[in-house]
Amino acid sequence: MHCHAGEPVLGCPQTATKREASVARTPEQLTIDTEGNPVAVRLRRSDRAKRLQIRIGHDGAEIVLPKRAAVHEAETFLRERSTWVLAKLSELRATRSAVHAEEQSLPDSAVLLAGEWLPLSINISQASQGQSAIRAGRRSKVSLVDDAIVLRTAGTDDTSPEDMLARWLRNRARREITQRVAIRSEEMGVQPGKLSIRDQRTRWASCSASGNLSFSWRLICAPPDVLDYIVVHELAHLAHMNHSKRFWRIVESHVGDIGRFRKWLTQRAWLIRQPIRLPAPACGEQLVLWAH
Ligand SMILES: [Zn+2]
Repeated sequence: MHCHAGEPVLGCPQTATKREASVARTPEQLTIDTEGNPVAVRLRRSDRAKRLQIRIGHDGAEIVLPKRAAVHEAETFLRERSTWVLAKLSELRATRSAVHAEEQSLPDSAVLLAGEWLPLSINISQASQGQSAIRAGRRSKVSLVDDAIVLRTAGTDDTSPEDMLARWLRNRARREITQRVAIRSEEMGVQPGKLSIRDQRTRWASCSASGNLSFSWRLICAPPDVLDYIVVHELAHLAHMNHSKRFWRIVESHVGDIGRFRKWLTQRAWLIRQPIRLPAPACGEQLVLWAH
């Protein structure tokens, strides 16, 4: 069984709404029509789904049908919840335009580390030729100097600056997450299995049935308390492989109110999907380096 923390997939509330909209149907989608404003809701069959479910994600609304459910059941289900779906979609649109505005104001050349944008400078030493160029390429190095990230490289390196920075962040993530897991697992009295650090953009962490934990390196870019929450969340799954009340009670007893972490993951996680911002290429030779 897998659990994933923090994906902004919203569950549908139990209560039905009073105002009903008309719902139309095609083989792949249902359409909610209120006041001549059609909104498409994708239909997806799932062998695993046990009941009808509506999901609101960054790519719109989707209704999940269990294997045996009839489309007219989905129609009724959606009609009863159409006000909620429309409200969530408009909330999402508002968030998206706020995100767009914030994106425009981000620094041009920076790396997001522990929730802070640190200025990035890239020093390219153009090695002359032959052997010396190859040796220089091997000395590519990323370092943290006075709250700034410095990447030193020779233009001959066949790894792109973005990949070098990602590798550096991944190594930091491995160290930091290993440490957090050690501290929290002792405190919580649980014994995790193997720890792996992956390159994932949407699933931040998971805990397998055998107790192996995996984390996305991008969590190193999130504020430290968010990273800590995810670690505690996954470790709590070693005691409860579900999201029951008892599970959340364990998590809260270690990190306090979880509302703010979930809010950060819903509203701010887009930041850690693109934690590296590179300056635009300035000249022909640098273009080669940026072409990867
Ligand atoms: Zn979970």
